[in-house]
Order: sequence, then structure tokens, then C-alpha cells
Amino acid sequence: MPQANENDTTNKSMMNHHLIMNKHPIQINDTTLRDGEQAAGVAFNVEEKIAIATFLDAIGVPELEIGVPAMGLEEAESIRIIASLGLNAKLLGWNRANLSDIKASIDCGLERVHISIPVSEIQIAAKFGGQRQVILDRLRDAINFACDHGLAVSVGGEDSSRADESFLLDVAFFAQEWGAFRFRFCDTVGILDPLTTFSKVRSLVHHLFIPIEMHTHNDFGLAMANSLAGIEAGALSVNTTVNGIGERAGNAALEEIVMALKCIYNIQTGIDTKKLLELSRLVAKAANWPVPPWKAIVGENTFAHESGIHAHGVLKNPSTYEPFAPEDVGWERRLVLGKHSGRHLVLSVLQEHGITLSQPQIQSVLDAVKHQSVQFKRSLTVEELLNLVPQG
Ligand code: MN
Repeated sequence: MPQANENDTTNKSMMNHHLIMNKHPIQINDTTLRDGEQAAGVAFNVEEKIAIATFLDAIGVPELEIGVPAMGLEEAESIRIIASLGLNAKLLGWNRANLSDIKASIDCGLERVHISIPVSEIQIAAKFGGQRQVILDRLRDAINFACDHGLAVSVGGEDSSRADESFLLDVAFFAQEWGAFRFRFCDTVGILDPLTTFSKVRSLVHHLFIPIEMHTHNDFGLAMANSLAGIEAGALSVNTTVNGIGERAGNAALEEIVMALKCIYNIQTGIDTKKLLELSRLVAKAANWPVPPWKAIVGENTFAHESGIHAHGVLKNPSTYEPFAPEDVGWERRLVLGKHSGRHLVLSVLQEHGITLSQPQIQSVLDAVKHQSVQFKRSLTVEELLNLVPQG
């Protein structure tokens, strides 16, 4: 396994001795502003799209999929504005395989386009009357048109996971032949497991010379695991969304992928992880959906410790119960008083406030803390703790 650098605060014991197939840098291609916004009930306005794109760019995300130019005037306008900001990130518009979509991308000032084409039988039947040749003809015409206009072209196989494997390979191979610079493997319905993902992506990596990009969905809670499996198999790029927002159960979360690559695989993405919490809050506010407390990396509880054993351990050495330092993602550690608290935490909080109690008094305060937190159905504030201290 690779050497962790010296000031890496990661608890090294968590690192697995797994087979790391892939030692190349991994390109994050964040699609919060395209597939993320496609989440039911999420709609960003122009100012929000600009703020999110600017923030992602500022923390070092190298590529952004910023919308669907053919979707309408307002969407096109926001894409045009973002494309004119002079960001460092490479910007991508999402297109179906038709000329009018690609014209709309060109009109927005984009220099790279993603062209999506269905590849599974069920999608081809529903959208193209089951005719594979029509798919290939449309894809060739769209790629040619885009290349003729000087665009860099990424091609995505919609529903790659359910596609006939030889047809998927044909589509990817022809995309490469016709000039695509990358092929996106889409687990559109989120139905793969990591081992199957590995073998399917491995096959594409073996047969193509252009890089493979992972695009996974979280219908069984496996978006993140499947993206990592694809990376293990040799994929070099991964689609993410902030907070994992996206269609149905969402996409692979930017903050989870970045931290897993850094802490588990020792792969740097060039992204300033200390800003991940702030980014999460920006997107949660714009999406008008809070993240659940136990959401990995950015949830309210990710560095909160209540149980006596854990709080005691963390007071002695944070690595006992934290996979990495909270500061690495912009969080602070919180020790919480509640039903599961022990005497060490109560003692240390009281000491901070200059209060010394006898052993029986501490026990009665602890009992009162447990009782009140059940009544309130939450942890107690320090003030509430102090109110439980016997007077005089
Ligand atoms: Mn998707």
C-alpha cells in the first residue's frame, strides 16, 4: 500500500490492505448542478448555480457538469454566465445525442459536451424502438457534429449496468473511434453491487484506451461503494454531487468520495477538504433540503460523541473513535451530554466550570442527565447540566 504522508492525521489503522489497482490521480467531475439538481424537488436559481460553481472551482474541483443547455432559456442563461466566469474548472454541458442539444451547448459558450446514449435493451426499446443501429448512427452524427465544432466530447452509456456487455463495449469502442475523449459508465438505476461493477468496468478499461468515468446511483445505498469499485478497476474519473443529491436516492457524494480516496486509498484529488462542510451547507441551503445528522463526512453527528465509553476514549486520544480529524473537513469535535454519557464527561465539563463534586453528587447529577435527556428526547446543553448541580 502507498505511504501516507507524515502530517496526515488519518488514523492509519483504518486503512485496508486491499489490492489497489489504480495508482493514477482521480478526476472528480462534479454534477451537482446537473444530475444533482435533477433530484425531485430541487431547483436552483441562477445566483445559486453561480455560487455553487464558484465554490466548487475555488476549492479545486477540476471539472463541473453545469446543466442541460437544451432544457430552456433560464437554464441556458445560467450555463452561459458560469461559462463566462473564467473558472479554472473544465465545464461540461449534458446533451442527448442530437444536433439541437449540441447546438444549445455551443450557444452557451461551452467547449466540452457530454453526450448520453441509452445502451440497455429496456432503454433502447422505450426510446429507440429497439433499434441498436439507430443508436449508433445518432451517436456518430452527434459526435461528428460536436468535433467539427471544436468541442471535446465525453460519451455516456445510459443504463450501462443493464446493457448487453458486448453491445456496451461496441458503443464505447465506437465512441472512442469517432473521437470521444472519455466514456462514462452509468449505473443509472443504481442496481449494481461493487463486485459486479468491478468486473464490468474492468472489461471496459481493458478494451479501451480512453479513460472511463463512473456515474453511480444510491438506490441500494451503494453509489459510493460502486464508484470506488470502478476506480479500483481502473476508472480515472468519477461523477459526484454535493451531499449526494440526485435522482431518487441520489448519487455518489463528493465529500464521501474525496475523503475515502484520501483516507482509505491515499489518493489525492487536489480538493481543499477543509471546505467540505461549508460547501455542504451552501448546497443544502440552495437545495432547501437539510442533510441528515448521520450523513457521512458532513452530518451534524459525524464528530459528536455521547456514549460514556466513546467520550472517555476521545478525551484521551481522538483516534480511538474518529477515523480522521474533524478539522480535515471543517468540523469541530462535540462531546454531548445525554442518556449514554458517563461520569468522565460530566466530570470534565464540571471541572471546566470550576465545579468539584463528591462521588455521590456526581452520580446523582449523572442520573439526572440520563433522565432529562429521555424526557427531552435530545442531548442537554451545558447550561442544563449546570442547573442539575446541587446548590450550596
Ligand atoms: Mn444520473
